[in-house]
Amino acid sequence: QVITRFAPSPTGYLHIGSARTALFNWAYARHTGGKMLLRIEDTDRERSTEPAIQAIYDGLTWLGLKWDDEPTLQFSRAARHAEVAHELVAMGHAYKCYCSPEELTQMREEARAAGKPPRYNGYWRDRDQSEAPAGVAPVIRIKAPLTGEIVVDDHVQGKVVFKTENLDDFIILRSDGTPTYMHAVVVDDHDMGVTHIIRGDDHLTNAARQIIIYNAMGWTVPEMTHIPLIHGADGAKLSKRHGALGVNAYREMGYLPEALRNYLARLGWSHNDDEIFSTEQMIEWFSLEGLNKGAARFDFVKLESINGHYIREAKPDYLYEVMLATAQEVGRLTDVDGLTANKATVLAALPELQPRAKTVLELIDLAQFIYATRPLAIDAAAAVLLTDDARGVLADMNALLRGLNDWSVPAIDAAMRTLAESKGLKLGKLAQPLRAALTGRTISPGIFEVMVLIGKEESLARLGDQIT
Ligand code: GLU
Repeated sequence: QVITRFAPSPTGYLHIGSARTALFNWAYARHTGGKMLLRIEDTDRERSTEPAIQAIYDGLTWLGLKWDDEPTLQFSRAARHAEVAHELVAMGHAYKCYCSPEELTQMREEARAAGKPPRYNGYWRDRDQSEAPAGVAPVIRIKAPLTGEIVVDDHVQGKVVFKTENLDDFIILRSDGTPTYMHAVVVDDHDMGVTHIIRGDDHLTNAARQIIIYNAMGWTVPEMTHIPLIHGADGAKLSKRHGALGVNAYREMGYLPEALRNYLARLGWSHNDDEIFSTEQMIEWFSLEGLNKGAARFDFVKLESINGHYIREAKPDYLYEVMLATAQEVGRLTDVDGLTANKATVLAALPELQPRAKTVLELIDLAQFIYATRPLAIDAAAAVLLTDDARGVLADMNALLRGLNDWSVPAIDAAMRTLAESKGLKLGKLAQPLRAALTGRTISPGIFEVMVLIGKEESLARLGDQIT
């Protein structure tokens, strides 16, 4: 059985790049009928926080990437990490090192002076423990092979060769008995039965070091897949400006989880030329071979267009809930109240709004005409349309519509056409100031639909506000 894992460090929000790593681990596990385990790498006690752990759970849940089994908290396994380190010492694959910080500094300086990389020189590697200075708590270092190569056989990167002479005897257990990141990851991956490691290629050199530990313990090295990191649209390293944000930020900007999932899948993985696909299709098609070797570029325009697609396809009931949740989340309380009090109207209006919005926030903006309070706030572009002449025409409309008994789109349409003809104007000319008066904007669903949605009384009242 395939077992993948997602192993984030809880030091901030769930970063969009980490979310993509989680998605690939999840998709591979689902594709193979295996499991994706979640390991919270909280060994950095200073930087790991409870809200950050919660943000990981929330972000994954929102994205629909449910992990299997209970999450593992890495710090809680510290005793096991120490146990394996001592086992390695007992087997002769690791050793205690008593060097003081001063000695290490000196060692690095000497190496630098000799034109070599500043590294630990193996001073305690073969030294007798009886020489150990009294009262010094040692660290434990792995015995890295002195000659030969470590090969990372990677599904994306191919065979990557590391010369062992470039890998020093790194620390696996600190003098306070806590494990280093390098060591904890190996022990946990082994104990959790992980068969496939899929993570960012910034971990590629770590993989070589980790293989040293696997080999020393006689453990099977999991299949390795190191995916290229995400870059900005301009090819530079992903920064905040490019979209290097938390998953929560995307939720607050009004992206649907299914759209983000689809977009993230395409960011570094491909299946033919398919751009839009369901999660079921992704699971069916997912393979490690489909992962791209080149860095993916984050493109907001593409994300928006995919999001627009999912908004158009979504059911109004579902979108209504997302609009409400988003308004709540970003603190738009007027919208929360308006949406809540006018649920039926919003639901009826949604099919008209959906083709006009790329994000949920835009959808909310478009729905505001339903619950806008009188007199309406008129935006700058709409105000331009409300000239004295236009107000005169609005007065005629008001009189005409007041007498209309059948308040339906065809009836309003017919009445307005008659009025346009009698004035020698195009229907569109009448519709513009009407839209401005009824919605306060220049963009809205069909204006007759708007009138039916808000009803006769409210329509006439809004018109009346612009006439006097
Ligand atoms: N905790 C590491 C990170 O957040 C990932 C470790 C791993 O995947 O091996 O980058």
